[in-house]
Amino acid sequence: MLGKSHFIAGLALGSLISWPAAVSAGITSLLPDIDTHESTVGRLISPVSWAIEKTIGHRNLFHSIWAAMAVYLACQFLPYDVSLGVLIGYVSHILLDAFNPAGVRIFWPVPFNLSIPVIQAGSILEYLMIVPIAVLILLKGVI
Ligand SMILES: [Zn+2]
Repeated sequence: MLGKSHFIAGLALGSLISWPAAVSAGITSLLPDIDTHESTVGRLISPVSWAIEKTIGHRNLFHSIWAAMAVYLACQFLPYDVSLGVLIGYVSHILLDAFNPAGVRIFWPVPFNLSIPVIQAGSILEYLMIVPIAVLILLKGVI
């Protein structure tokens, strides 16, 4: 999935809780891709993301449920809806990436690859399915 798809989906899902949750979910939905220097967040700190990509690899630790839990626990000092948004954003990223043929190693280092290979990143299908659904959820949150 593209960063903008992750952001919109995280924003939309978080908006079901509150607007602070929407913002934190949107931002956090970009975080798992810190493990690749080609991502939105990876380009911001490319030496770090490059090092992670070369040592741990893309869609491994940072796309696992363990990383989601660690980030959520690290944000417990934030208001509840904001930290819940963090969890929603991070998990939404992992689940959306599971729809990519490459899948995610959700229980890394356990060699189980969660993959429901229906959407290629950047494909027209991504735009036709993910973005309109996210916009509808977002509109539901506004109304
Ligand atoms: Zn990803």
